[in-house]
Amino acid sequence: SPQKRKLGIALVGLGGYSTHQLAPALQETKNCYLAGIVTGTPAKAEAWKAKYKIPDKNIYNYQNFDQIVNNKDIDIVYVVLPNAMHAEFTIRAAKAKKHVICEKPMATSVEDAQRMLEACRQNKVQLAIGYRLHYDPFHQRVMDLGQNRIFGNVQSIRAHNAFDMGAGSSNSWRVDKERAGGGPLMDMGIYCVQAACYTMGKAPVAVTATFGEVTRPELFKEVEQSINWKMEFENGVIAECFSSYSDREDFLEGKAEKGWWRLGPAFGYEGKRGETSQGKMNYPNIFEQASQMDGQAESFRNNKPSIVPGEMGLRDVKILMAIYASARDGGKRVP
Ligand code: NDP
Repeated sequence: SPQKRKLGIALVGLGGYSTHQLAPALQETKNCYLAGIVTGTPAKAEAWKAKYKIPDKNIYNYQNFDQIVNNKDIDIVYVVLPNAMHAEFTIRAAKAKKHVICEKPMATSVEDAQRMLEACRQNKVQLAIGYRLHYDPFHQRVMDLGQNRIFGNVQSIRAHNAFDMGAGSSNSWRVDKERAGGGPLMDMGIYCVQAACYTMGKAPVAVTATFGEVTRPELFKEVEQSINWKMEFENGVIAECFSSYSDREDFLEGKAEKGWWRLGPAFGYEGKRGETSQGKMNYPNIFEQASQMDGQAESFRNNKPSIVPGEMGLRDVKILMAIYASARDGGKRVP
């Protein structure tokens, strides 16, 4: 039936994530497929056209992108650009009457995130954030354990997510404040923010933060090298979090009245492992991005809100900005 047709996705920005995760995932999706591309690099347009059999009429650049409004093959625009460009391309996609999936973090300011939501509302399109872990069985189990109080009330959370950026990364947008909006907090720490919120099933009431020491000033001229922060929830539950571009850490822990759980590796694409006070978690490692896009396409097709809506992206940008504000002056902030 026409209801069940696969939705066409156009990826915007053919960098590492589009190339190595999203395009391969779109070869396995059931509710959507790779219909088009938007790129500023003509050589990539040629290579992707050949590799994925993309017709010329479905290939755009950043200048002619708005003509996508006339393209019936494209139902969803997936914004996979540096963080500060998410707002512009989400708003242009909404004006072109396309549903939008936007990568994390949704935006680099609260105002931008609000403008994105408003543009999607006005143009009656849906907006979902690329929060792939909501589709992962290990993280779904953590949501269940925390939100449904399987081991009683949650008492504390710890979440660390860090990677060691190579010395040759000084040209990366990730260390450029203008394009990234911030450092590891925006890129990796957002997973800890998310995890604390979905363990509790709610947003924090306050945050405090401190920046770490800069030991590699050649890389971290504009954005933080590392950051420690705490998220305080109702009833005094604290999530202790850390993110860095100069360390290797990847875990999520929760402690409740009658038990505990731990994922580690927790946040990467592959090789997740988990255990609880009752034993090892046995879940398959799935192709998260395929499940994510299938889930999002299904919600768009049925006109149902996504489980990772733009409103959640805005909530998280508010938390990120409160964490930065606290790190700058040491004061407690209400997101
Ligand atoms: P890359 O640097 O690998 O790719 C970004 C692409 O954006 C470039 O290749 C380029 O594509 C395009 N681009 C357009 N303008 C610029 C510019 N001024 N500077 C740099 N690039 C530009 O980044 P990633 O693919 O790693 O990340 C993209 C987004 O995806 C980020 O928001 C990131 O947070 C998110 N991400 C999410 C992940 C997840 O697990 N959910 C994992 C990795 C990233 P072109 O040449 O086609 O124009």
